[in-house]
Amino acid sequence: MPQTRKFGLYLPGGVEDAIAAIKGGLKITACQVYLSGPMRYLPASRYMEDKVAEAIVAFQQETGVEIVVHAPYVISIVTGPEKSAECIKRHLAICDKCAINNLVVHSGSWAGELDPVETWVKFLNEQVKIQDFATTICLENMAYGNGRAMSGEQLNKVCEQVRWPLGDTTMPAVGVCLDTVHAWVGSADLSKLDKKNIQVIHLNQTKDGLGSGHDRHSENHLNEGVIQAVSLGAMLLLAPDATIISEFDNPDRKEQEKEIDLVQNLLDQVKATGITPAEAAAINASGA
Ligand SMILES: [Zn+2]
Repeated sequence: MPQTRKFGLYLPGGVEDAIAAIKGGLKITACQVYLSGPMRYLPASRYMEDKVAEAIVAFQQETGVEIVVHAPYVISIVTGPEKSAECIKRHLAICDKCAINNLVVHSGSWAGELDPVETWVKFLNEQVKIQDFATTICLENMAYGNGRAMSGEQLNKVCEQVRWPLGDTTMPAVGVCLDTVHAWVGSADLSKLDKKNIQVIHLNQTKDGLGSGHDRHSENHLNEGVIQAVSLGAMLLLAPDATIISEFDNPDRKEQEKEIDLVQNLLDQVKATGITPAEAAAINASGA
């Protein structure tokens, strides 16, 4: 069944600013926002007000635009589990109230002896009590080198082991947000990542090399970097229904519109070629 895949941009400001930008003519069917900021633990409390939440629900229903929420970067389930659980719970409560389907959370750096799968499963089940919420947590693959980033296999295991009690069949309790730059510069083996777990794709570009471990968020447009269109396209094909978010970080409206056109062009190309990730990797490696 052909699906109209949702795509759009990270938009700065709060949800209200994002809604205003879309109502003002930005042609996107999805956007990503923070509920306070990337470096603050707690989301702005106004989102729990009925009036504010109702407006967000109504906007999504009327326009079909999907709002994705990104949790703050400061979450660390190893060094600050209580604070992190509180932060995630507050975000999940707002997402539930505002009918937001996906909350993106960084999967973290795993340098010590702790097993990331066990730690995440225990944290989500026991500290977050994920069964109390309906929103899907999308664990994002990270850019770390030296094996510190979770592998595709490990991400799959968390998705499999954390479930809602009644086995909701339409949405998983935990999914994956696949960041194209983190996949490119990181050391994690994502070859076994089950594509059915991918709910969101961060479609980003970089000037850093394959496996370099650098994670510099780019103000590059999608066509200005080292990841060729064929590789980006292949990553999109991995999960044909996943919502696409470009995290292009320039608030200028003209630049945002240019980025949207680039995403749309890439999606059109993807439809036309049907190339597999393996083929794309070969082409990228050969420098063609
Ligand atoms: Zn992220």
